Amino acid sequence: MTKKIDYIIVGLGLAGACLALQLIKRGKQILVFDTPSKNRASLIAAGLFNPITGKRIVKTWKADEMFSYLFKFYREAERILQLKFFYDYPLYTPFRTIEEQNEWMSKSADKSFANYITQVTTQSTFGDEVNDPIGGILLSQCGYINTGVFLNGVRNLLQQKESYLEELWQEEKMKISDVGVTYENISAEKVIYCTGIHALQSRHFEMLPLKMLKGEVMTIKTSKALNRIYNRGVYVVESGEMEYKVGATYDLANLKAGITVEGRVELEQKVGDLLSIPFEVAHQDWGIRPSTIDRRPIIGEHPKEKNVVTFNGLGTKGVSLAPYFSEQLADYLSGQGNLDKEANITRVKSLYSKFH
Ligand SMILES: Cc1cc2nc3c(=O)[nH]c(=O)nc-3n(C[C@H](O)[C@H](O)[C@H](O)COP(=O)(O)OP(=O)(O)OC[C@H]3O[C@@H](n4cnc5c(N)ncnc54)[C@H](O)[C@@H]3O)c2cc1C
Repeated sequence: MTKKIDYIIVGLGLAGACLALQLIKRGKQILVFDTPSKNRASLIAAGLFNPITGKRIVKTWKADEMFSYLFKFYREAERILQLKFFYDYPLYTPFRTIEEQNEWMSKSADKSFANYITQVTTQSTFGDEVNDPIGGILLSQCGYINTGVFLNGVRNLLQQKESYLEELWQEEKMKISDVGVTYENISAEKVIYCTGIHALQSRHFEMLPLKMLKGEVMTIKTSKALNRIYNRGVYVVESGEMEYKVGATYDLANLKAGITVEGRVELEQKVGDLLSIPFEVAHQDWGIRPSTIDRRPIIGEHPKEKNVVTFNGLGTKGVSLAPYFSEQLADYLSGQGNLDKEANITRVKSLYSKFH
């Protein structure tokens, strides 16, 4: 007998997990397929969110909308899943140069940064934990999520609802029609691919302009608990008791599975420059981010098959992008609202010229 549901989701990383929660909230019947590999990007991530990034000190794209929503989303998810995984934590970036110090001083007077800047200091402030001889900037609306706890929580919820299959989604078994898709004995209105870099192996989405961006992280142990997140060259984010994730590297060329000596040397050097306390390396890991050339997600229907949808391209910022865009996608699927032009798959002209 055929089981009728609203949506199938393929992949339970940050994209799939956030979308699953959004659809459940809207009363939709869903089924999620996932083959959770140890090195999937969402599990490897330190889970950091930070509204002000980059060497040029700019607010990240859509920071005002995305960050206020992110707090609401993860706090509500903690209530639903009855788990603790969201940590609202200050983030401190020591200045490298006097020019940087001056630039931040003027930024701190800018009203649009007011929500994010707690304090700008011009002399060492947290020297018992980091090297900050000329001070730094203390930011708010930052923090991290423990992605392992979050993803497990969503999986458990789906299992309770009999909405989860730990199985490889095999495209050749899918039949697509004008009214929906069928897969073995399941029929759904649409299937949403939240498959990260694996999209490049899909015959529907292999032509997405995704760039695989390998990253390595280390776990370090310290003899003193750090009181905030530190970020300069690398981030140092709590991951256990006196245990911190340090990351990350960015490698577009060497995409081979596994950790590297070069990755460890780079991270050790950078964290050694940043911290003023001793540490020991406990573990090293790697994953591959699904990034895009224009650094925007790719969301929407396949140009030919309107019932086959993608939610991908979260790049280096899955933790902050996934809540906001999963809400937008869930509304769009329910016939309410539009997809952001900059994130909409329709911007990928090469995809459209192939089919039209
Ligand atoms: C080293 C590193 C550090 C990072 N740090 C941060 C950070 O601090 N903050 C931040 O915001 N972002 C960070 N990121 C980026 C973040 O991890 C990604 O943006 C995000 O995880 C992408 O999520 P996703 O759901 O699209 O993909 P994924 O996490 O890759 O999930 C895709 C899922 O789909 C499954 N799947 C694929 N194909 C199939 C199939 N055919 N059948 C069944 N299942 C399938 C996969 O097994 C996987 O479970 C980091 C990434 C890396 C690699």
